[in-house]
Order: sequence, then C-alpha cells, then structure tokens
Amino acid sequence: MTIAQVSLRDGMMKLPGEAGEKGTLLGSRCGNCGERFFVIREICESCQSTSLEDIQLSATGSLYAFSVMYYPPPPPYRGPDPFVPFGIGWVELPEGLLVYLPLTESNPRKLQVGMKMDLTFGVFTEDEQGNDIIVPLFAPRQEE
Ligand SMILES: [Zn+2]
Repeated sequence: MTIAQVSLRDGMMKLPGEAGEKGTLLGSRCGNCGERFFVIREICESCQSTSLEDIQLSATGSLYAFSVMYYPPPPPYRGPDPFVPFGIGWVELPEGLLVYLPLTESNPRKLQVGMKMDLTFGVFTEDEQGNDIIVPLFAPRQEE
C-alpha cells in the first residue's frame, strides 16, 4: 500500500517535495489594498476586492502568543497521541501577518514570546484511506 501525503486543507500549503524542495505556507495578497492573508482566498476581508493574487509566505517568524492544549484537536484528527498535549500559537511573519498554527513544542517552559520560529511539516493524523494528513507547524529555532 502506498501512503500518500495530503494537505490538511486546500490552499493552505505547498507540501515539501520528495526531491528536497521545502514546503511553504500559501496565502493571498489583495491587489487593491495590499492586505495579505494566510490560506488562499477569493475575496479580501478588508476591502471586499476580488483581485487577489496567490503568494508564498515566509517560513520564519517570531512567536507572538501561545498556549498548550490538553485535549485532542477537532476532526479530521482521529487520535491517538502524539498530538496531545500540543502547543499552538500565533506566529508573526515578516509580512506583518499573524498565523495560528500548532507548534512542535508543547512544554510551555521551552516557549517564549518573541522567540524565532521556523516552519516545518508533520503528520497530523491519517485519513480513512490511510493517507498521512500533513499539517504545517512552527518549531522554536534550534540554537546553532
Ligand atoms: Zn483589499
């Protein structure tokens, strides 16, 4: 059986490629007012323009706020661990955009507002066909 990797949601990310290409977060930029959004959309929330272009968002940011969840995520998550407990947070991207995504770190003592975060991808759960559902996550930057 072949296990495919599928995105959690359409228009959210470009998955990492087998040839080592990095995955990215996808979004939209409004051609009228310049507002940027995480996850591709058809209509600008700020000015209702429909002249949006797809963009790739930065893969690094800083932690703006976070919390730790001790209950399972909503469907399509089908359990079991390792997703509980999990950290989740708002990460501020250089584009001036806040994105709300799970974190690789769930220990609040290892998380700090303002710390540098790097985008990564992980298996969230599997769908009914056994495919891995991939989710974007932010990881605290490793010290060099
Ligand atoms: Zn707009």
